[in-house]
Amino acid sequence: MRSLLLVATLLIGLSPVLSAQTSGPVNVNDMVLEVMRTDIGKDKEGMAMWLPQEFFLAAGMAQSPGLDSGSLAKDLDFLQDYSVFMVQAKTKGEDGPRSLSTAQLRASTSLVDEAGRAVKPLSDLPPKVENLLNLVRQSFASRGNEDFRLLVFPGRTGADKRVFASPLRKGSLTLKVGKVDEFSGMTMTWKTPLASCVKPRPCAKCGETFQAAWSYCAWCGQAGGAK
Ligand SMILES: [Zn+2]
Repeated sequence: MRSLLLVATLLIGLSPVLSAQTSGPVNVNDMVLEVMRTDIGKDKEGMAMWLPQEFFLAAGMAQSPGLDSGSLAKDLDFLQDYSVFMVQAKTKGEDGPRSLSTAQLRASTSLVDEAGRAVKPLSDLPPKVENLLNLVRQSFASRGNEDFRLLVFPGRTGADKRVFASPLRKGSLTLKVGKVDEFSGMTMTWKTPLASCVKPRPCAKCGETFQAAWSYCAWCGQAGGAK
């Protein structure tokens, strides 16, 4: 578990500025904890990180605080059309640990939203997306971790091209990896909005912090209690 957390931090800790103040509205360290899910069992080590556009933006700003966040957001705008996940699905077999390949994960994984709409990972990606994924891969490879796969799903669905998954909108996202060989499968869910991306407001009744994803105040039970 500790090594997984470390790896998650390394993804964005490409430079030592992690301890520095971020100038963007989103704190990337808070976001790392929110976008990561683990499923550790006796025979498996599963992990997934949802990497929305807002994540790359926060990571970019953490690395280069001098950047203009508006223009970086514009540069990364193409990511709104995709949902990127970093996935590790590892079994601890008799012959040592084995990780599912990208092809195995692509075939066995789907992403489902709160309305039950499901999408499968894409296999053909435009160069812009491939280039970004390569940067992420390089940062992992340079740290000796080869077990992570990157899965890219469509970011919009339906005739209205509605954004499938947004850390800013109320909803949920579920990543389902089916059983493959000895890997027993895993299901991970993210509830949105992410607290790191949406400013909490005070509860209308008790005045305590009311997170945007909550339907009820955790402190006094007030329904939809934000002012
Ligand atoms: Zn309250």
